[in-house]
Amino acid sequence: MVMNIGHFRTKLEEERVRLEGQLKKIASPDADVPGEWNPKTPDLNPMISDANELSDTFEELDNEVGIEYQLEARLKEVMAGLDRIKRGVFGKCDIDGEDIPEARLEANPAARTCIKHARDISSGE
Ligand SMILES: [Zn+2]
Repeated sequence: MVMNIGHFRTKLEEERVRLEGQLKKIASPDADVPGEWNPKTPDLNPMISDANELSDTFEELDNEVGIEYQLEARLKEVMAGLDRIKRGVFGKCDIDGEDIPEARLEANPAARTCIKHARDISSGE
């Protein structure tokens, strides 16, 4: 199958830039582990005397950690997709090496399996 790899590389690169931009707002790259991000903790105002306000702050932090986790997980998939292009195995199913349909890659260029095996691995889809 002849596939326009450049097209998918562009899509993955664009998504990587977008995800990193979003992550930078709520997390900092881990200096020790490349690809890992640590959620930023909000500046807790020691002057907050209102318990409700304080619990709001913690709730917000909770949400951000959830979002950070999702963004980081997706970024890892995108990076893995780019790595597959580098290794020349892009568009091949991880399980049986079958070609992944282009429509599936169009919907998710980071897809690691054909449709048949999509349920066999947890790819976070
Ligand atoms: Zn397969």
